[in-house]
Amino acid sequence: MKKLLAVLLATVMTMSLLTACGSSKTAETTKETEAAGTTEAAEKTEEATETTEAAVSEALSDGVLTVGTNAEFPPFEYVDDNGEPDGFDIALIKAVGEKLGVTVEVENMEFASLISSIGSKIDVAIAGMTVTDERKESVDFSDSYYEAVQYVILPEGSEIATADDLKNKAIGVQLGTTGDFIASDIEGATVSRYNKAVDAVNDLINGRVECVIIDKNPALVFEGKFEGQITAVDGAQFDFEPEQYAIAMPKGDAALVEQVNKALEEIKADGTFDELVKTYIEAE
Ligand code: GLN
Repeated sequence: MKKLLAVLLATVMTMSLLTACGSSKTAETTKETEAAGTTEAAEKTEEATETTEAAVSEALSDGVLTVGTNAEFPPFEYVDDNGEPDGFDIALIKAVGEKLGVTVEVENMEFASLISSIGSKIDVAIAGMTVTDERKESVDFSDSYYEAVQYVILPEGSEIATADDLKNKAIGVQLGTTGDFIASDIEGATVSRYNKAVDAVNDLINGRVECVIIDKNPALVFEGKFEGQITAVDGAQFDFEPEQYAIAMPKGDAALVEQVNKALEEIKADGTFDELVKTYIEAE
């Protein structure tokens, strides 16, 4: 917030300097600020000058982009054999970091904590996160990089087949996800919310829930992992709408949004994006 003010100040100052069109005015402006006697104002001026010179987003100013994810969502993010977060999203954000000339550090946390951590614990979040109007009130999103839809995972032999069949059912979801929001709106449904999607799937297999609503690609990964025990059904069959994944960023950091979108564009244009799709998603 303080930075935002600084940026505004910087803009105003730059504009007044430009209008003044001479160094005498610069000196005068500085003198005036000092004469005002408020050290706070002087500090702000200093900070504003720094911001103008750097002309980068606050999130990038330290050369490190701290990225939050929830590595429980294969193939977009998972913990690899070495205990490190990996997956399509992780590779994508590293490619973005490379374009921006910053080091990417990944923080693994609960999905439901990601949005509130942006701007404090983390700079941005990439987590197969769907753009929603509600989330847009708290964060800015990059351009979308992937289209998804919720799937319904059913135990073998389930008779659930339509939107109507989901009414009054015991439904497992991952806490705070769009699957959670959809399930919460289903008439008479009892929703069990898990921090890890795989725990929901385990409870489906144990018979504690009757279906799990989760994004398409993780649903397909789980179907492969628990072969013969569960089936993943396209949410279009249940009238679920397509969703768009995007990178969530601090609200109001226009410089960051612009640079990330530019990096995404380049990654798509130079073939990197398609490579990542092949490596992480189509190889599923
Ligand atoms: N796409 C879903 C959402 O944004 C789920 C994301 C996730 O579980 N990582 O809510």
